[in-house]
Amino acid sequence: MTQKGLAGHKARKRFGQNFLHDEHWIGRIARTIDATPADTVVEIGPGQAALTRKMIEQAGHVTAVEIDRDLAAWLRETFPETLTLIEVDALKLDWQTVYPDKRIRIIGNLPYNISSPLLFHLMAVADRVIDQHFMLQKEVVDRMVAAPGSKVYGRLSVMLQYRYRMQKMFDVPPGAFTPAPKVTSSIVRMIPKKTEDLLPVNYQAFSDVVAAAFNQRRKTLRNAISSFLTEEDIRNCEVDPGARAEALGVEAFVRLANAVAQKGNVGI
Ligand code: SAM
Repeated sequence: MTQKGLAGHKARKRFGQNFLHDEHWIGRIARTIDATPADTVVEIGPGQAALTRKMIEQAGHVTAVEIDRDLAAWLRETFPETLTLIEVDALKLDWQTVYPDKRIRIIGNLPYNISSPLLFHLMAVADRVIDQHFMLQKEVVDRMVAAPGSKVYGRLSVMLQYRYRMQKMFDVPPGAFTPAPKVTSSIVRMIPKKTEDLLPVNYQAFSDVVAAAFNQRRKTLRNAISSFLTEEDIRNCEVDPGARAEALGVEAFVRLANAVAQKGNVGI
């Protein structure tokens, strides 16, 4: 069974528009999110409301961020009471202004072309996010949840795993969308760790050292991060200077970052 959307709307590639049409998958995603009337649900990119409808059924009301003017107009008209629309680029939105006094649940079948920057952008409000459920390219979800030693473990894995507990839920095939994308998608659940459970770290140093380490991921750490730390510094962090970035867990990167900060080598 398929869903009705905005008749005649031509999917816009620049906005990463692939609309879910398959009730089986829409229902499965909605059951995974499992919102209740007590939840403040914020959706990124409601599009033709495939997930929005279900979220309204579950939660009674949804707030959504949509960049496409035509879709925004249609959404306003279709859901005058149950949808609050923020017509803006989710990347430019100051998320601190979205229900600043509430804990929110964020969902979205994200435009794939901006998914990584958006995930980083949303970290700013992680302290009052209950959870995030996103549909992303399978390959991106695999990178997000990858463990050390995996070929796809990298910067995205370390930076996000520092802040969130993440779980890949299931894959969604291209045929569930119109138009069908070329790639398989996956649903990921992200639950921010409690602020008090986060390892103390100089975030800029952390971001710098992780980027440098994976920028040259085939190099040993002694070479890849030599502009930040000496071999001895690295050893003092209980890290093998002969190891490669992909072998290191989040805690080891945090130790390296704090050593970088201590040496004053931040932002070099
Ligand atoms: N949620 C719908 C679904 O599952 O069928 C649509 C998903 S479609 C992959 C992505 C949606 O995000 C589109 O509605 C698109 O217009 C919107 N979008 C794209 N870039 C955006 C941005 N920067 N900010 C907000 N919405 C955006």
